[in-house]
Amino acid sequence: MSMVVMKFGGTSVEDPEAIARTAAIVAGRVAQGKQPVVVVSAMAKVTDQLLRAAAAASVGDRTGALAISSRLRARHRDTASALVKDPKEIVALIDFIDQKFDSLDEVLRGLAAILELTPRISDLIVSYGERLSSRIVAQAFRERSIDAVHVDAREIVITDSSFQKAIPLDAFIEKRAAEKLRPHVDQGRVPVMGGFIASNEAGITTTLGRGGSDFTGALIGGALTAGAIEIWTDVDGIMTADPRVVSEALRVKVISFEEAAELAYFGAKVLHPATILPAVKKNIPVLVLNSRNPSNEGTRIISLAPHCRSPFKSIAVKRKLSIIDVVASRMLMTHGYMSEIFSIFDKHQCPVDMVSTSEVSVSLTVDSNDKLPSVAADLSRLADVKYEGKKALVCLVGEDIRGQNGIAAQVFNAIRHINVRMISQGASEINMSFMIEEEDADEAVRSLHAAFFQNPDPAIFDVEARKS
Ligand code: ADP
Ligand code: ASP
Ligand code: MG
Repeated sequence: MSMVVMKFGGTSVEDPEAIARTAAIVAGRVAQGKQPVVVVSAMAKVTDQLLRAAAAASVGDRTGALAISSRLRARHRDTASALVKDPKEIVALIDFIDQKFDSLDEVLRGLAAILELTPRISDLIVSYGERLSSRIVAQAFRERSIDAVHVDAREIVITDSSFQKAIPLDAFIEKRAAEKLRPHVDQGRVPVMGGFIASNEAGITTTLGRGGSDFTGALIGGALTAGAIEIWTDVDGIMTADPRVVSEALRVKVISFEEAAELAYFGAKVLHPATILPAVKKNIPVLVLNSRNPSNEGTRIISLAPHCRSPFKSIAVKRKLSIIDVVASRMLMTHGYMSEIFSIFDKHQCPVDMVSTSEVSVSLTVDSNDKLPSVAADLSRLADVKYEGKKALVCLVGEDIRGQNGIAAQVFNAIRHINVRMISQGASEINMSFMIEEEDADEAVRSLHAAFFQNPDPAIFDVEARKS
């Protein structure tokens, strides 16, 4: 028997039809003799709406916050009623949903009185999304003859206390998974748990950061040494570019861990950047699959991808970035100057994506965020500082960039009509990236896609899809 962790994203549980499709996919795996452990996101858009309710409450808009909560309550109740027909079970499920929304409303009312939204409260508020979806999905599975059991993810995924982006504590997770998941699997049951949500050692709710359900899937897969980790989403797999930007994007059939991690980090939303790590550690293959098209093979992420004729596998874009220029006429080359600059970013916990230096200046790119003014204020004690938002980083990823000559020339020729601000090629030599204005990003990706994926290698890319 082989264990498989199946993670379903928000669109795969967005409404009764999606949840029914998801149940059929899981039942299919059981029929193949697999032992699934299921991880689900909140229903599509629920996390955003919970954050909006929190934001409204935190500025005193109690009515607005409660109105959002009441719409969410109706959506979850309707979904449950459409899926669960057993009279006793539906009463228990609706009761569970009402209890959760009653306590959410209590938190929102409190927040509207206190008017201070801490990261800890924010995590508590968003956690309702996954707590509700996982409970509903588990019951829908049981109703479809899957022997499912709902498990609270917060009892298994233990993290530190960095709310909103907590760091998992592997040893704890392994122990909890062995105690609280493995026995169910051994007895032929299918555990269903929420992704994204976790708790610290004291039992206080934390989260793994936006998009973090993928990460939960991989952590559980790692902890249980599963045979595979399946990430079920709304596209056929990892594509040569975001299909919302490039309609002719092709499915990448197979990709290496390193390439997928690079793509995720540089903005390909299809995978959370940390997903790959637990899988790499235990060499567990990861598959990205489409819950709306389950017979498609998807993308297989493995440790060593075969070589490929084209230098790149995919193009990613990271938007909403800022560029910071630090200009100092003499100090730059002095000893310790760079470390002083970086210690300022460190102090403000502001991660830097890309750096380029010249005799007199250092340019750095960071996620645009509210820390920027205070970082700039600190930096301005060392040198002249300028910062500008609305930038995008375009990143081409592929193991076969290594050792090929003239690629940079081809890249910059393809986008010669676009103004490029900064260029870098990572030491890993599997990515080439450059910084442009955000408004040019879609055009840059389309031009690059046209130039590099005209005649794709059929061993790596699904060219059949293009023909049909
Ligand atoms: P889920 O809710 O299942 O986690 P996400 O919305 O987080 O799904 O991720 C899937 C989306 O990622 C796709 O709908 C697609 O628009 C986007 N995406 C961005 N880059 C890529 C890429 N290279 N390949 C596939 N999808 C991509
Ligand atoms: N629901 C969370 C989010 O929207 C986690 C996830 O879907 O992966 O960020
Ligand atoms: Mg996601």
